Amino acid sequence: MKSVVLGYAAMAKGQELKQFDYEPPKLNGHDVRVAITHCGLCYTDIHAIDDYFGITNFPFVPGHEIVGQVSEIGSEVTGLRKGDRVGIGWQGRSCMECEWCLKGEEQLCKDIAKAAAWSPYGGFSSSITVDSRFAYSLPASMPSEFAAVLLCAGITVYSPLRSTETGHRRKVGIVGVGGLGHLAIQFAHALDCEVTAISSSPDKEEQALALGADHFVMAEDKGTLRNMNLSLDMLLYTGHSAIDWTRLLNTLRNNGKLVMVGFSTVPVTFEPLELVVHQMSITGSLLGSRMVMREMLAFAQERGIKPQIEFMPMSQVNEAIRRVKEGRARYRIVLVNDSARLRT
Ligand SMILES: [Zn+2]
Ligand SMILES: [Zn+2]
Repeated sequence: MKSVVLGYAAMAKGQELKQFDYEPPKLNGHDVRVAITHCGLCYTDIHAIDDYFGITNFPFVPGHEIVGQVSEIGSEVTGLRKGDRVGIGWQGRSCMECEWCLKGEEQLCKDIAKAAAWSPYGGFSSSITVDSRFAYSLPASMPSEFAAVLLCAGITVYSPLRSTETGHRRKVGIVGVGGLGHLAIQFAHALDCEVTAISSSPDKEEQALALGADHFVMAEDKGTLRNMNLSLDMLLYTGHSAIDWTRLLNTLRNNGKLVMVGFSTVPVTFEPLELVVHQMSITGSLLGSRMVMREMLAFAQERGIKPQIEFMPMSQVNEAIRRVKEGRARYRIVLVNDSARLRT
């Protein structure tokens, strides 16, 4: 019997997903085939359906927060066996030979645009084929739905938060309490930072404090933000909405850093005076390397990082996309494959 993969695809830009069956891609030497049990829904999936990056090939099967069991292995695979539970994030391969790959910063690979796990077809599906070197063994007791979310949202916030020794307890501001922010608060707290959550929704205060924030500040609260002048080592911007950037930057201390994560479409404008005077920097952070991914999974397990999740069956993927677009998900949606669909 010929094997068929059962997925959900957008047939053209911006369209609802439809059932889409396809032949499994060829299995190269380093590849593994993974029978998918769980796949998280990330805003990047929605951006790609809408071809926001201008590189989406249709039919497009999204999905890049993937957990499942290895079902087939290529001839050169080491370290994984059939039946192993693995997780795969946005990056499903890399060239392994450019300067960035050789330095262990695979997320900056020169071919990153071609390195997505969803090329040719992603995780809203019964199976996926990726380079085994980007399929991570998961801690045995970590729930699959937690792992799914950590593989993209988790690594995105952990990677910039983990670094830099300052010689004092770091003060970190997390801007935005949503899919990324609710994890950033937990990671920053577990990394022993003093955490200030900054949000434009007053109803997020209780949740932010419960997740480990030491303080909660409304983004519009000029007075409190002014009192925070020159106090923070780092601001992690996870938001999507407009903000007074100058006021926000002024909360950073000398050599402080504003780090942008996620793909916000909000323009950043600010008066550069304070930036110069206090040697502040504005930078971005993309995913994380394989080494940092393994470190993050172990740290999340050890420190009990708990993504807040809504479950939905994969067959309701369009409804899930609507919930995320309308900002109704608290905070991430994980799609669970109906086992009847697992035919490959
Ligand atoms: Zn993502
Ligand atoms: Zn490379």
